[in-house]
Amino acid sequence: MIYNFSPGPGVLPLEVKQQIAEQWDDFAGTGSNVCELSHRGAVFTEVAERAEAKLRGLLSIPDDYAVLFTQGGATQQFSCIPWNFGGPAGYLVTGHWSAKAKRLAAAEIEVGLVADAGPDFKAVPEVADWNVDPRWRYLHITSNETIHGIRLPQVPKGLPLVSDMSSSLLGEQIDVSDYAAIYASSQKNLGPAGLTIVIVRRSIVDSVPDGVANFANYRVIDRAGSMHNTPPTFAWYAAGLVFEWVERQGGVAAMGRRNEKRALRLYEAIDNSGIFRNNVDVVCRSWMNVTFQLTDERLLDKFLDLSQQAGLHALKGHRAVGGLRASLYNAMPDDGVDALIEFLREFEKRHG
Ligand SMILES: *Cc1c(COP(=O)(O)O)cnc(C)c1O
Repeated sequence: MIYNFSPGPGVLPLEVKQQIAEQWDDFAGTGSNVCELSHRGAVFTEVAERAEAKLRGLLSIPDDYAVLFTQGGATQQFSCIPWNFGGPAGYLVTGHWSAKAKRLAAAEIEVGLVADAGPDFKAVPEVADWNVDPRWRYLHITSNETIHGIRLPQVPKGLPLVSDMSSSLLGEQIDVSDYAAIYASSQKNLGPAGLTIVIVRRSIVDSVPDGVANFANYRVIDRAGSMHNTPPTFAWYAAGLVFEWVERQGGVAAMGRRNEKRALRLYEAIDNSGIFRNNVDVVCRSWMNVTFQLTDERLLDKFLDLSQQAGLHALKGHRAVGGLRASLYNAMPDDGVDALIEFLREFEKRHG
């Protein structure tokens, strides 16, 4: 048995891969693969609309929000957000991704710093210590820092919030109406790479500043039903299957309860060990990306070798931070988390 702890592109639910395989040669009686069909034809139109309806249902997205199925990844949104909202804006820096979001936004608009958790990135500064400027058009946060393993423990209120949820969307319960916009790359928790979901208040869509190029313009994308150009049809289809799978698992709240519980089990195993550690403040520990280190770094290569042999794949930490990381996206079975915990115990016994 192989368990894939990749941070992204990440694991897909086995059931979804099986559905894709079953439909590979003949999607819905067309005799073609879904990726061979016109994005404007009736068959794909139904696929697209169904996926949007499922996502709206899973997140109870209010009618006054547009859902865009666009491209370019979260990285492209780092620039699209400031273009569509205008400036100035404030950025909360809690790790690698929010620092990058801030840096790219600063190339487009006037940007202020809300608070900075760096350079250690072990805890999110208290809300009472945040700098907030009422002139800001929006306040940008990163709900889950995929590389540093930090989850934002609370959602600030006040200014219109924009959140990068690339590694947490559908992984825990959220209230969409708390946000002016949410965006996420698909390849962590939603499906194959290529698709970028943007959930954005219609008041923003309707007031995009002049001069924003079509490919990035939320109004243009929305008015065209996300078909201002050929969308990533295969990723859109596959994400739709993932949405239906999440629904069958009991929905987003059920996923969130499960994800919290099993992440806590893994952190407990790390905390109770003599050779592994995690330095992130307990209330800010990610449910999706569990980062950890070996107290003796010389054991790292041996750990990676043996874990790979044991079928526990892609546990190497991001090159920016080193160490280890287990990404526990929705599609990771509970058995994978159990197998990892068992492996940590066994490794400590033999090599600790
Ligand atoms: C992966 C990731 C990104 C970058 O996504 P791309 O699709 O590579 O642009 C941005 N933010 C977060 C939180 C991520 O996890």
